[in-house]
Parts: sequence; C-alpha cells; structure tokens
Amino acid sequence: MGTLVCQTCNSTIDHFEDEKVTVLYAKCSCCDENKHAEEV
Ligand SMILES: [Zn+2]
Repeated sequence: MGTLVCQTCNSTIDHFEDEKVTVLYAKCSCCDENKHAEEV
C-alpha cells in the first residue's frame, strides 16, 4: 500500500493501492501555499 505524506508537516494525507510499499510526498490542504495565496 502506498502512503501520501505532506512534505511540510509530515502528516499522512492519504493512502492508495500499490503493489509495493511506496511513500509519495505532496502538500496537504493546510500547507498548500498556492491555495492560501488564492484566498488572499
Ligand atoms: Zn501539511
């Protein structure tokens, strides 16, 4: 099973099906600077 981890706060965002154990780094909604910029 794969795990999606926030590269900023290191919290687990989501899990996804995968043949092997994989960790992918992304940004969770609260760490997404682009989203915050759009709100301002
Ligand atoms: Zn985060």
